Amino acid sequence: TQKRLILSTQLLDITISRLCQQLIENHGAFEDTVMLGLQPRGVFLAERIKAKLQSEGIECPLGYLDTTFYRDDFRRRETPLVANATHVPFIIEDKKVVLVDDVLFTGRTVRSAMDAMIAFGRPRKVELLTLIDRTYSRDLPIEPNYVGKHVNTVFSQKILAEWTEQGAAQDQIWLIT
Ligand code: 5GP
Ligand code: MG
Repeated sequence: TQKRLILSTQLLDITISRLCQQLIENHGAFEDTVMLGLQPRGVFLAERIKAKLQSEGIECPLGYLDTTFYRDDFRRRETPLVANATHVPFIIEDKKVVLVDDVLFTGRTVRSAMDAMIAFGRPRKVELLTLIDRTYSRDLPIEPNYVGKHVNTVFSQKILAEWTEQGAAQDQIWLIT
């Protein structure tokens, strides 16, 4: 296997800053906006976005959404899945919701996230932010509103996202072939 760095720590930081600026363009002071990080790894990205918005003086509520039991392939699995915590400590009714995940591939996780989200109310608008868009691989008509980086992967390739919370020395994004 080959490991190629696609976002260095510095480039990743620049990318997250740019995503924050794009969010600010559309959401202003975030009065009616909340973020939902998709468990497990979308949460790491969402925490970084929240911190950077904070450094711009913007407070955006952040919740965690677990999609395990909403996946359409949930019953097909041989080993039972362990669910992560869903934690949505605010009202999403009539809010603008930004779903945040690390990698968008077939779109099935995002579809199930929307199911999980609807249990908490009916948002006014839902957007999708992904750090990496694995292009040309969607099984469903789901497209992101904000993209950190488009990566044209073949099916055998994977994105490896390393976050300090998981014990990595630095945040870095790799392409594994
Ligand atoms: P999808 O459901 O769109 O096929 O896949 C997206 C979900 O699976 C995301 O939650 C993401 O964390 C994970 N995922 C899919 N492909 C990759 C990948 O290449 N690398 C990483 N790190 N996660 C992936
Ligand atoms: Mg997905």
